[in-house]
Amino acid sequence: MIENILANLERTNCAMDGTFIQAVSEVLHSLDPILQSDTKYQTYAILERLIVPDREIRFKVQWLDDNNNVHINNGYRVQFNNALGPYKGGLRFHSSVNSGVLKFLAFEQIFKNSLTGLPIGGAKGGSDFDPKGKSDFEIMKFCHAFMRELHQYIGARVDVPAGDIGVGTREIGFLFGEYKKITRNYDGVLSGKPYAFGGSLMRPEATGYGVVYFTVEMLKEEFGDSLWGKVCCVSGAGNVALHTIEKLQYFGAKVVTCSDSEGSIYDPNGIDLLLLRSLKGDGKRLSLENYMLQRLGSVYTKKEDYPHEAHAVWSTPCYAAFPCATQNELTFNDAVTLLNNGVRTVVEGANMPTVPEAIEVFQKNGVLFVPGKASNAGGVAVSEFEMSQNASMEKWDFDKVDRKLNEIMCQIYKRVSLTAKEYGRERNFVDGANIAAFKRLSEAMILEGV
Ligand code: NDP
Repeated sequence: MIENILANLERTNCAMDGTFIQAVSEVLHSLDPILQSDTKYQTYAILERLIVPDREIRFKVQWLDDNNNVHINNGYRVQFNNALGPYKGGLRFHSSVNSGVLKFLAFEQIFKNSLTGLPIGGAKGGSDFDPKGKSDFEIMKFCHAFMRELHQYIGARVDVPAGDIGVGTREIGFLFGEYKKITRNYDGVLSGKPYAFGGSLMRPEATGYGVVYFTVEMLKEEFGDSLWGKVCCVSGAGNVALHTIEKLQYFGAKVVTCSDSEGSIYDPNGIDLLLLRSLKGDGKRLSLENYMLQRLGSVYTKKEDYPHEAHAVWSTPCYAAFPCATQNELTFNDAVTLLNNGVRTVVEGANMPTVPEAIEVFQKNGVLFVPGKASNAGGVAVSEFEMSQNASMEKWDFDKVDRKLNEIMCQIYKRVSLTAKEYGRERNFVDGANIAAFKRLSEAMILEGV
């Protein structure tokens, strides 16, 4: 049945949809044990309904740069499934964005949001606009133009976008400003807002911190171990990577790598977070080469100077690896290198950063592998806390958000690990996450009817 569904999906989707088909294939193959357990999934055609988005919205975004030249970009919102609550998921501004990438991210989002146990559905959106090299005014003008189109499709009880690659607090502020101007509605239509007007404390930190809270709980339960004194490799140098590094250091780990799309840093003395933030914090995008110039003993490797199909950031021996940059950034060759260097666990901070062949290497060799839909769900969980605070006009303090985030990440770990055991896939966190998320989602879809 699964092969037929996948063949049909390939037939009805275009060449651009490679990552989407990859994500669906991974999920469907995981679900075999639960699909065998009950005929209701077939009766209600749950799989067939689950892999088609409710709607894909595409619009034109026209804006003027600082020299009054006209630019046109594509804008998208993929509203995938709202069985569990309002559509929820980030906006990505990056030159690589197209409808296929967003469909993959929106599909992953419905599973991630289900795993949190919170009342949120799944969506994703964005644009092929590249914020790199643009002035603050240009970014503001683009965000305003984007929202002039998007506003008609979203709402606090309909669809609540947040940030993702290229969209941080500053961009969300501009988007919110325009939404408010058009609709005169001061409600929680976006999450990740600046704290001054409706944002939640800890939203910027939440994804990275959540990744580490998940890891701490998992290491305690699975190995009776902790992060104290462990060497860790992290990729990326954006929002998720910076906060993952910060929390790993808080728990006593030594983080020795980070990267961006141009190259990577190896720092045997442990990443100097203050220095890294001065180059990459608050939306800054200075080259990591500057890190090497300012930090004795660190090494910078340019991406093109490293062999094809492998990345310098994964070449260092480490106990734990945290891919936190982008999809398909950890290849088969990287997995073999990590394994040969003794890695014990790989925890995804980004969405689908590990290629399927690399996941297989880890799983076959006893490396604990955690998919992003489980480990990076802290961001969307705190986004939902922001929606709750906006709806009740409350402000939660830092400790409350932090405690609830930690609780949610520990619950996700338990849910994933127990489900894997229950279906005979002990320590297979990919299957555990997919099955646990599917159970909750399919239950809602059946109860709500076709
Ligand atoms: P940012 O834009 O803040 O950072 C992305 C980082 O990844 C940058 O350092 C960027 O480098 C690097 N990067 C991008 N493309 C590549 C590439 N092809 N090779 C190597 N490095 C690359 O994004 P976030 O940190 O917010 O997001 C990172 C990942 O985490 C994404 O997969 C996102 O979907 C996921 N995620 C984010 C959440 C959030 O709350 N922000 C929530 C859950 C998941 P450069 O600056 O050079 O482009």
